[in-house]
Amino acid sequence: MQQSTVPHVTLNNGSKMPQVGFGVFKVTDDDAADVVGSAIESGYRSIDTASLYGNEHGVGRAIANADVPREDLFITSKVWPSEYSFDGALRAYDESLAKLGLEKLDLYLLHWPAPQTDGYLEAWRALTHLSEQGKVGAVGVSNFLPEHLTRLADVSDIVPAVNQIELHPAFQNRTSAAVNAERGIATEAWSPLAQGGALGHPKIVEIAARKRCSPAQVILRWHLQQGRIIIPKSQTPSRIRENLELFGFTLEASDLAAIDALDLADGRVGPDPATFAG
Ligand code: NDP
Repeated sequence: MQQSTVPHVTLNNGSKMPQVGFGVFKVTDDDAADVVGSAIESGYRSIDTASLYGNEHGVGRAIANADVPREDLFITSKVWPSEYSFDGALRAYDESLAKLGLEKLDLYLLHWPAPQTDGYLEAWRALTHLSEQGKVGAVGVSNFLPEHLTRLADVSDIVPAVNQIELHPAFQNRTSAAVNAERGIATEAWSPLAQGGALGHPKIVEIAARKRCSPAQVILRWHLQQGRIIIPKSQTPSRIRENLELFGFTLEASDLAAIDALDLADGRVGPDPATFAG
């Protein structure tokens, strides 16, 4: 069992979250026990799942089988917009806990704003209720644009601990990240490798050759040096390990700037939160 070397980020409610976690989008429930088990064995202590992913049972099996105390793990799940009401979100939380075999999550997120209705406001009320009752470590949001954060702030004194947003070299989502920082919300990058699409860029390949590391490690290190939380996904044991070996090298300011320059207007790999209904 590999010890974890990952630094922690202190969230706005005092919770400490590993800066590198393991994403499990598109991992089947059958595969999740082995894949997540392999990640924990390699040193990951934070796992990012969601009810939508359909793999909470498998993630729960990996947690139950792991030779790591529960308090050393940081488990995140998310409620889907179809459950956005006060009672619906509470029910969804209980269902996720039951599938994961846990008594409490470390972080629970609203998965998308789905702003066509105001459902996310009622669902946020449910999450803050769970938080006030001590039933969850921290609560946050995902894919929230600045205007959705403003609406939450209008109705709630609890500031989301995290906003998990699409962010990678081709889609740097700078306005959202800046507004998160202004509000004291930690930015967590989903698809930090652009689902693999960012790895072949000549600039990334050039930096990787010079630093004697892989293109994935260059991109993940770029995220870390900018203070973001990241949750790369892989089902390949060697890549699972590689994506955690990020602490033996540093990118120069000029490398960071060169990757900053790869931002594109249309570089998104996922849906637009302004219109996506979930
Ligand atoms: P990532 O950017 O993490 O990329 C994953 C892909 O890159 C896989 O195809 C993987 O292949 C490949 N890959 C991983 N590591 C390497 C490597 N070292 N070298 C080469 N290829 C590599 O994409 P995801 O979309 O999975 O995002 C990560 C996590 O973010 C998700 O799993 C999920 O937890 C979260 N997420 C959240 C969303 C939200 O709306 N809140 C939306 C999307 C994702 P392989 O598996 O074959 O090794």
